[in-house]
Amino acid sequence: MTPSLAQGLNAQSGWFWLLVAGLLGLAIGSFINVVIVRLPRMMNAEWHRAAADITGTAPPEDAETRVSLAWPPSACPLCDARLKPWHNVPVLSFVALRGRCHACRQRINVLYPLVELMAAAVCLLAVWHFGPTPAALGAVILGLLLLPAAMIDARTYLLPDSLTLAALWAGLLASLGHAYGVSSVTPAAAIAGAALGYTALWILERGFYLVTGRRGMGQGDFKLTAALCAWLGPSGLPLILFLAACLGLAASAVLALSGRMDSARRIAFGPWLAFAGWIGFMYGPELIGAYTAATGLQ
Ligand SMILES: [Zn+2]
Repeated sequence: MTPSLAQGLNAQSGWFWLLVAGLLGLAIGSFINVVIVRLPRMMNAEWHRAAADITGTAPPEDAETRVSLAWPPSACPLCDARLKPWHNVPVLSFVALRGRCHACRQRINVLYPLVELMAAAVCLLAVWHFGPTPAALGAVILGLLLLPAAMIDARTYLLPDSLTLAALWAGLLASLGHAYGVSSVTPAAAIAGAALGYTALWILERGFYLVTGRRGMGQGDFKLTAALCAWLGPSGLPLILFLAACLGLAASAVLALSGRMDSARRIAFGPWLAFAGWIGFMYGPELIGAYTAATGLQ
């Protein structure tokens, strides 16, 4: 078992690494906000270009088709006022501006600082749990690819290939560093996991469709599960599916009880898969150990 900070490091260097992890997480979280807002718009523009290509019509030529992660510069989504660099400091700017745009004074979506805090939490928990080790690097890479994927799925029901397939490739490559602890699984287990994860979800979805006549999951969910099982190996699949199903059902129950769930509304499964996968990577052995201890099963 990898030593956690509490066990393995002297207090001084432990705090240093936690500080580095927290600040790095906040900075990357700020960029992840850009990805969450712009990637679906970039995908939409790409589909319009492809449709124009197929139908032989002129491709659309408005500003929306030129949106990228780098352009246009950050602006208030409500009044279009440009943001100055000091409006872009993670969390601090939101607090200093009391959650309102500097120009129009309308409320800024609280998700922006929340995403920055979640990214910081991913980095902090990884270093807290694994210490400043290759395993923490693996947990950070996986967590920071899953965070934007989960947020985009929750908002748009899309799971961009550029995130799910990046997480899959990252998992396969990380398994090459298994001997150093970057991934907890060998390359053979990563490849088998990816194939099993995709196939299992495909079979589940087909079964659900045959029984209910409704579409339960999308291909994005298959690719995401393939990615997660590339990081956790085939044996991680039951834990991921069990945790994700429990979390998804609990979220549905909360929405239903609060009266915000109607027949047209459905819950994206991707965020729960992503959360379950990251928890599995971080705490899988502990969770399985607690389960076997509680049930007496081996
Ligand atoms: Zn504004």
